[in-house]
Amino acid sequence: MNSISSITLQQDEPTWQHLLSNAIDDPKALLEHLNLPQNLLDGAQKGSDLFSMKVPEPYLSRIEPGNPKDPLLRQVLPLNDELADVSGFVADPLAEMDANHSDGLIHKYKGRVLLILSGACAINCRYCFRRHFPYQENRLGSEQWQQVLNYLKSDPTISEVIFSGGDPLATSDNRLERMIRDLEEIPHLSRLRIHSRLPIVIPQRVTDRLLQILRDSRFSTVMVLHANHPNELDGSTAESAKRMKDSHITVLNQAVLLKGINDQVDVLQQLSEKLFEQGILPYYLFTLDPVKGAAHFDIPDEEAVKLHQQMQAVLPGYLVPKLAREIPGKTEKTLLF
Ligand SMILES: *Cc1c(COP(=O)(O)O)cnc(C)c1O
Ligand code: SF4
Repeated sequence: MNSISSITLQQDEPTWQHLLSNAIDDPKALLEHLNLPQNLLDGAQKGSDLFSMKVPEPYLSRIEPGNPKDPLLRQVLPLNDELADVSGFVADPLAEMDANHSDGLIHKYKGRVLLILSGACAINCRYCFRRHFPYQENRLGSEQWQQVLNYLKSDPTISEVIFSGGDPLATSDNRLERMIRDLEEIPHLSRLRIHSRLPIVIPQRVTDRLLQILRDSRFSTVMVLHANHPNELDGSTAESAKRMKDSHITVLNQAVLLKGINDQVDVLQQLSEKLFEQGILPYYLFTLDPVKGAAHFDIPDEEAVKLHQQMQAVLPGYLVPKLAREIPGKTEKTLLF
């Protein structure tokens, strides 16, 4: 910060907040920008009336123009298919409307507590269960935060806190820092985990300040990213992953198995290999939550298991993610074999 040139450089680089607030949310603008056929517009508009479209520029730049089947486009472009009513696909597949979530805290898994820091996301993924309740406001106000701290203090079996959302990194560094400092005062907590798609869709989110906060923390920190296709990883994600690793953060990835996007063994193999090249280890491969409006992404269990076996045949064991599903009421992820 001691030379004019470094200041100028910083002003030229858009901040993550700027990229976030300028994400494209107009289907017409997206189709025009990517040179896509206008016959997609009707479905895109109807779909975005149900769950708004949201695509930030760094992610947009990885989409191939003129290709309606682009695997990154398919994750964000609303389609007519979303209007279909398919039996078994419901608004709240994880029964997340349960009362214990109202204060932003979910304690279902032994030793681990999940906190919903922010309802916002940097991108709206069409397959997400969040599409039916994109919580607008922060669920953790200061009063709820005190309740969360009291809850965590009262249970010494809890060793790990998971920041989740929405996307917890949609929260400012200042707020994250205050929360982490408060949590550090609870002696039995030793691990902090952050589940975020932001370092993938807006790598600029991995700020020096965020890394400093995490480096300064006494917690062992795990960042679980979310990328579904190798094209989501480029030089900018490699750099942000490297910066996290250099700050002693363990970086993992979870993906969702999605029809037409990553339901081929060579794509899944490339995803694992590219993640590893960028210093990220594959953690989970989830089957789709049966959420209303996402049935066109669904892959039958038998096919999922077959794909997973094919991955095991071509990849070293440490690059094969666990194939799992979340079943409401279960106290752990259910592995599929
Ligand atoms: C997924 C999840 C966790 C973390 O599970 P891991 O298997 O440790 O990754 C914790 N709590 C809840 C409520 C979850 O849904
Ligand atoms: S919660 Fe994750 S999957 Fe769902 S919209 Fe946000 S970033 Fe996408």
